[in-house]
Amino acid sequence: MSLLPDTLSMQVSIPTDDDGYLDRACPNEVCEAEFKILADDWKDKVRDEEVFCPICGHTATSDNWFTVEQMEHLKAVAMAEFMPLLDNEMNRMARDFNRSMPKGGLISVSMNYKPSHPVAVMPLAAAGLMRQRYACEECGCQYAAIGAAFFCPSCGHNSAKTAFVETLATIRRLPEVRAALAAGLDRDAVENAFRLMLEENMGKLVASFQRFAEATFETLPNAGDFSSRRNLFQNLPQSSDLWEQAIGLRYESMLTPNEWNQLQRFFQQRHILAHKDGIVDEEYRQKTSDLKYQSGQRLVIRESEIVRFTDLVEKLTTTLQRACAGEKDDKRINEHRG
Ligand SMILES: [Zn+2]
Ligand SMILES: [Zn+2]
Repeated sequence: MSLLPDTLSMQVSIPTDDDGYLDRACPNEVCEAEFKILADDWKDKVRDEEVFCPICGHTATSDNWFTVEQMEHLKAVAMAEFMPLLDNEMNRMARDFNRSMPKGGLISVSMNYKPSHPVAVMPLAAAGLMRQRYACEECGCQYAAIGAAFFCPSCGHNSAKTAFVETLATIRRLPEVRAALAAGLDRDAVENAFRLMLEENMGKLVASFQRFAEATFETLPNAGDFSSRRNLFQNLPQSSDLWEQAIGLRYESMLTPNEWNQLQRFFQQRHILAHKDGIVDEEYRQKTSDLKYQSGQRLVIRESEIVRFTDLVEKLTTTLQRACAGEKDDKRINEHRG
């Protein structure tokens, strides 16, 4: 006869950071992005039935969002809590512990989000600088991610615009990030970390632009007339075609020829970084006429290039937005073109 009850429950408090944010991780295998959400909002605003991943938009019930560290923490607490009970059982019982229990009935963990034991780990100054904070325009839920996030975890509102603006701001903080890294790491490590950061931000800028362009396009009264394939806005020539059909304007009319060429080259570089491990191929050379590289060489992304890339994307989207908001000033744009 077992002395163990059929169901045990316990309260485990998950530590939050110094600002009261709780770490969460997306359960979607292809995403697994970590993000933060204000613990109070997790408790009060987020619904148990549906939580949205801010990065990929995946939805799952609220008990699916533990980070790896939190799962370890839960396991450790559960073991500490229940081992004494087990010690009173016969050895056999302990051995057959898992098998003898009704499936899923052993431990029901209920969470207490009061940060009674805040973890005293100061995040890297650099990581702090890269963190983007969001407050949902619809429901006010506050959350944070390293880099761009697009969906409110609580209501799923797609905040492409906020994400885009935040991404630009974060990229412009990169010089500060470099300084923060330099203060804590040796020179080689700084170079390495910073190179990765530049490359990563190139991807984030394109992802953010893509979401923003998509969201802007959806606001058009005639958006329904077009069926655009996924990720179309990552392809500049094709999305330029789409804009021309929808609003009669091409990207080429929003930038100088030189700017347009540079922007296309940056997009191609992002493609190489994301899909070819940064190794230049003939296709890249043909598409960009970038003769700085031979096939087989690896791209070198500089801080000044990311800044330029950011400026170009901002210029493009500002014009695009103005055009879509019905403040189309064809005359002025034509003057720019000439
Ligand atoms: Zn996700
Ligand atoms: Zn929301």
